[in-house]
Amino acid sequence: MTLDIKKLRQETPGTQHSIHLNNAGSSLMPKPVYDAVVEHLDLEMQIGGYEAHARAMPAFERTYDAVAQMINADRSEIALVENATYAWLMAFHGLNWQKGDRILTAEAEYASNVISYLQMAKNKGVVIDVVPSDEHGQIDVVALEEKIGPDVKLISISHIPTNGGLINPAKEVGAVAKKYNIPYLLDACQSVGQVPIDVEEIGCDMLSATGRKYLRGPRGTGFLYVRKGFLDKLEPPFLDLHSAEWVTKDSYKMREDARRFENWENSVANLIGMGVAADYYMEVGMAEASDRLCSLAATARQSLSQIPGVSVHDLGLHKGGMVTFAHEKRDAVDIKAELFKEHVNVSTSTTSSTRYDMERRALPTLVRASFHYYNDENELDKLVELIKRM
Ligand SMILES: *Cc1c(COP(=O)(O)O)cnc(C)c1O
Repeated sequence: MTLDIKKLRQETPGTQHSIHLNNAGSSLMPKPVYDAVVEHLDLEMQIGGYEAHARAMPAFERTYDAVAQMINADRSEIALVENATYAWLMAFHGLNWQKGDRILTAEAEYASNVISYLQMAKNKGVVIDVVPSDEHGQIDVVALEEKIGPDVKLISISHIPTNGGLINPAKEVGAVAKKYNIPYLLDACQSVGQVPIDVEEIGCDMLSATGRKYLRGPRGTGFLYVRKGFLDKLEPPFLDLHSAEWVTKDSYKMREDARRFENWENSVANLIGMGVAADYYMEVGMAEASDRLCSLAATARQSLSQIPGVSVHDLGLHKGGMVTFAHEKRDAVDIKAELFKEHVNVSTSTTSSTRYDMERRALPTLVRASFHYYNDENELDKLVELIKRM
């Protein structure tokens, strides 16, 4: 099955105004997502927020089903939150950290996650152990297994890092986690919507993701998956009257499902929108979407690498939709600004967002052009042409 790109672009009004290659930052919402959000906001204006929520309950509850279906989970394993970081933090701080506990992570780890490791190292004396990368630049699964020991409390990696095309072998890491019965937290922030995700196949216990990136949902949305059998091994670091109930004067009872990681107030409109985005993605076809965006990115890498003075820096045996490059004579920030003047949206990857990896490879700030399935060949050519001219 091939995608109807013309139709998909028609349903993506933003494609008429600019060449959007910042999908790893925040992709363009399709019209049905926008409509669902606005429709709910309108209802809030007309009849009141609580009343609107009550009326839109089926649409709101559909988000749990849609997200669960998208990653092959059960709806009871999904918590809807405001972003991926919050989801990740609820899982990470939900483990009962003790002095000497070791965290195994990968070189491409995301800054916010490492900052939390460092904070836990400072406050609790946990140990951060960065597993080296293999010859493809992905986490070395053999080295990972060699590092396993009784003090390893968590394996925690980014599936697709923020700074390039690398796709870490999440499933192979999951096999190691399972073999030694070690909790496994997967940061799938960049991968949900970019590559098909099956939590059963990957074997992660916890997975965090955001709505606005490759999933094409509205900003301010995210979700946490916690495997049913793992739920009671995690203590939500914060509770409120939604995640728990105050049952007697001196006691409370937590919710039974993953919603114990939520808090009461949230954007109902945006979360409905994220559910519509998940349904839209499944209707487009998750595998087809992935093939298309990976192939656009592969073509871009090939064309860019042929331009004198341009170097492409994506790692991995299998590469995703993000293309990172540097220009010998031009600063990445300048390139981004110049492209923006031509209505081409890209982003930059700085050392501080993935320091282990960027320092190891001694990379400067890179230009990051992230492709989605709705991008087309003309847009790709325009990017390459503009870079050629620089
Ligand atoms: C963007 C990103 C995050 C953070 O997501 P938010 O929704 O902004 O909290 C986490 N991990 C990775 C790998 C990311 O790229």
